[in-house]
Amino acid sequence: MNADSRQHCLQRAYLRLAISFTPLLIVGWLVWQGWVGAAVFLFCVVLTTITIGTLVPRCALFGRMIKRLPQAGNRVLLTIDDGPHPQHTPAILDILDRHHIKAIFFLIGDLAAEHPELVRDIIARGHEVGNHTQTHPATTFWALRPAGLWREIAGCQETLTSICPEHPPRLFRPPAGHHNMFTALVAQSLGLKMMLWNARGFDGVVQNVSFVRQRIHSRLKAGSIVLIHEATPIAIEVAQSVTTMLAQSGLECSTPPASFTFGDDEVVVEGRAAP
Ligand SMILES: [Zn+2]
Repeated sequence: MNADSRQHCLQRAYLRLAISFTPLLIVGWLVWQGWVGAAVFLFCVVLTTITIGTLVPRCALFGRMIKRLPQAGNRVLLTIDDGPHPQHTPAILDILDRHHIKAIFFLIGDLAAEHPELVRDIIARGHEVGNHTQTHPATTFWALRPAGLWREIAGCQETLTSICPEHPPRLFRPPAGHHNMFTALVAQSLGLKMMLWNARGFDGVVQNVSFVRQRIHSRLKAGSIVLIHEATPIAIEVAQSVTTMLAQSGLECSTPPASFTFGDDEVVVEGRAAP
């Protein structure tokens, strides 16, 4: 995370931004030629493509991401976002212990700095922590420029690494899953793989435990990456319900070992091996 790697990353990001303006030059040329219809069509195609690539969480248009466990066997992965939380984290840790389930907690840097003892407890009880940005700007993260992305992701990485130097995060999850054309580049420059999910119940927006459980259950299979949240009004009930379901599923639910590599050739894009 030194100044040189930051500078190199930002240079690459702004080069990518400059290249992304190429279609606009073509749009301008089409207008100049009087082909306004073609210019409007091309502009709409580019705008729609960028919007989908940025706001659809599992769209890998702007960079590689992990959406299910590669070569999973009978394994599934439980991931828990938006902690640590002074009430929810200890309760959820007890629930996980009861079911012998290990999870990845994607933590917010500012909250981790407020409750470093919870971060240490998560790791001491055999779970893994991941990077979920320093301040969790859920509504504006998609629009951050490279310097802002670096500040959020590197800031969280520094916070979590300072609390547990022997367990630096190896995975990054963007808030709300939104990622623009620079996000994967910044994460990669910090040595992080971007992890999304393929089984979630929208517990961050739907206050209905049975709906959340049913939706996750309908998507659960070997290799699934399950997403639930802390810091919601139903966080404890969802954790209880989903962990019970996982325990009864016959699937192994543990974090990948430290030696497990999420190599590019193992990243899965929409159900097929990435090229
Ligand atoms: Zn989040």
